[in-house]
Amino acid sequence: MAADRMRAMVLERPRQELQLRELPRPEPGAQQVLVRVQACGVCRTDLHVVDGDLTEPKLPLIPGHEIVGEVAEVGREVERFRGGERVGIPWLGWTCGACRFCRAGRENLCEEAAFTGYTLDGGYADYALADQRYCFPVAGTSGAAEAAPLLCAGLIGYRSLRMAGEAERLGLYGFGAAAHIVVQVARHEGRRVFAFTRPGDEDAKGFARELGAVWAGDSSEAAPEPLDAAIIFAPVGELVPAALRAVAPGGTVVCAGIHMSDIPSFPYEILWRERRLVSVANLTRRDGEEFLQLAPKVPIETSVEPLPLSEANEALARLREGRLRGAAVLLPGV
Ligand SMILES: [Zn+2]
Ligand SMILES: [Zn+2]
Repeated sequence: MAADRMRAMVLERPRQELQLRELPRPEPGAQQVLVRVQACGVCRTDLHVVDGDLTEPKLPLIPGHEIVGEVAEVGREVERFRGGERVGIPWLGWTCGACRFCRAGRENLCEEAAFTGYTLDGGYADYALADQRYCFPVAGTSGAAEAAPLLCAGLIGYRSLRMAGEAERLGLYGFGAAAHIVVQVARHEGRRVFAFTRPGDEDAKGFARELGAVWAGDSSEAAPEPLDAAIIFAPVGELVPAALRAVAPGGTVVCAGIHMSDIPSFPYEILWRERRLVSVANLTRRDGEEFLQLAPKVPIETSVEPLPLSEANEALARLREGRLRGAAVLLPGV
């Protein structure tokens, strides 16, 4: 392949398999860095984009928003990074900086925001472009593959944990990439974690216990004791009333995903007594900075299943079917 070309896994239409394509290698604009992708995590949001649950992707699209790589080229106004530095590229790719949300430090809610691997091309490729202002330095000695899931599963998990407040007894519904990171942060903070998995998933329960959950059971089971908060990672609306029933008065239920099936109606009494139901949307750059500083202190150890770039469809299929322990990560260099 010529030096000015790259491989990418491309979504041409929703609900179709990604196609391996050879494309021109992009050139950075003034504020952009061109990053040689070392690893790109496969997130449930990618599945929602490919499956058409999220309805406004750029097309054709290169998915992927958990990118770790090395800066290969910088635009003429880039001052934060130099060639050879390791950076992370997250979901939040650009914001307007001027709207009422941006001005109030809530850029995660910016209505003009652009998102990596959704409205901007992402990291299922040899190279990815990103605005330097939204990239993070990724230090540390761990490998690129192990760092990739921190960029979304970790970050959104962290924001969700903050939304859960000071909960000592924390329920996690869905024990995949995000939960396996959040349980480590939660334990580090002295919380007790109760893991709820899809019914019958003994592997996920064992995995949760290994990572320090004090209890692991089916999501159809009642919690063994009242919880102070619960985070729902699985995109399953039925879990909302289940989690509201599991939390004590004053408790919080956080919906962490970008998409969820319809929530069934439920009696007001399970919300009453100041229980709160909230969602988490996107991330701010501040979340990223805080979380990436915290990660080595925990220290967070991610469990990854590496796959070559060309096996992106297989990675998505495994995620859809729940056949993963931790996170799938694509390695374009392999
Ligand atoms: Zn804005
Ligand atoms: Zn994600």
